[in-house]
Amino acid sequence: MASHPARNGLLRGWCEVTRAEFALCIREKYLLNDSLDEALRFETYDALFHTGAKLIEYFESHDEIMISVSGGSDSDCIIHLVCTYFPEYLDKCHFCFVNTGLEYQATKDHLTYIEERYGIEIKRLRGKSVVWTVRKYGFPILSKYKAQLIGKYVKGVPHAYKWIFEEKVTSFNAMRFTDPQKDLARYLKENGINVSAKCCDVSKKEPLFAYIKEHNIDLSCTGERKAEGGQRALAHKSCFEEGNHGIDKYMPLWWWPDSVKGVFKATEGIRYSDCYEVYGMRRTGCVGCPFNLNVADDLQAMIEYEPRLFKACMSVFGQSYELMDRFHCRRKKCLPESFQLSFGFTEEGGI
Ligand code: SF4
Repeated sequence: MASHPARNGLLRGWCEVTRAEFALCIREKYLLNDSLDEALRFETYDALFHTGAKLIEYFESHDEIMISVSGGSDSDCIIHLVCTYFPEYLDKCHFCFVNTGLEYQATKDHLTYIEERYGIEIKRLRGKSVVWTVRKYGFPILSKYKAQLIGKYVKGVPHAYKWIFEEKVTSFNAMRFTDPQKDLARYLKENGINVSAKCCDVSKKEPLFAYIKEHNIDLSCTGERKAEGGQRALAHKSCFEEGNHGIDKYMPLWWWPDSVKGVFKATEGIRYSDCYEVYGMRRTGCVGCPFNLNVADDLQAMIEYEPRLFKACMSVFGQSYELMDRFHCRRKKCLPESFQLSFGFTEEGGI
């Protein structure tokens, strides 16, 4: 981590000015804004004040900052925050988007819109495509953790969790799989069908790590929020984490509830990508990822708005969706109802 100016007594005067200016600005816009509900005014002002103070602290104390751009609503809020209120840090910011090879056209268009609106450049990083990774290592299924375990079981290394899927043992790991999921695992093994979660590492993380190394990034800034829930909410205890290899992690929106994000969007006039504004999605995530519990909704939106992308997802992940549905692994089906009907999908035997 770069030396911290507050710690070594070098805190520059303009930093304090920025903090005061920011406080004044959000006071006018939020705290004194009569059009907002009173509780919401305080909540938003408080969240923004805290975020601004932390952002200044961390941006001051680091030299090369990577801001991950996903094209989703959280990264939109971070970009707006930095570009509008803290432009003095833009010289050390690297805005990076990883193209996995399966991206919404709406996301690609939105990146261009952001660049034009804020006058910044978003670096498009590209590693091995998801298509390549899935063909080489197998497709993702169920969840990251379960795909990893089943993948090893299918390959038979080392004794490969046979006891989870073939013996009636009760252990923490075994209890995480439902009976239909165990049936699915056995089916995959019997038929030698490879599954894996490798595309996260190969197609998403590798290009980012390569960029981090090449540009000596010492702060990685991402859009995770605790309010999103799930595993992510449990993965971090605060908005900042010191990294093991000199790359710290900062999540400016970590403490923002949905209400604050909604007020910020409306007040600042932020426009999200068409995935939200037109397709009606609530999250964008990784296109068609079978780990997504609501993947059927995303696929339905693709059928309506980006049919070529739907075909691509079916070609890459179709077997994963179909198998999870056939074995009744989830309460909600993966394949959208309109698709099941049009292809005569049956409860018992798939398509
Ligand atoms: S989120 Fe899903 S589709 Fe995207 S890279 Fe990871 S496993 Fe693959």
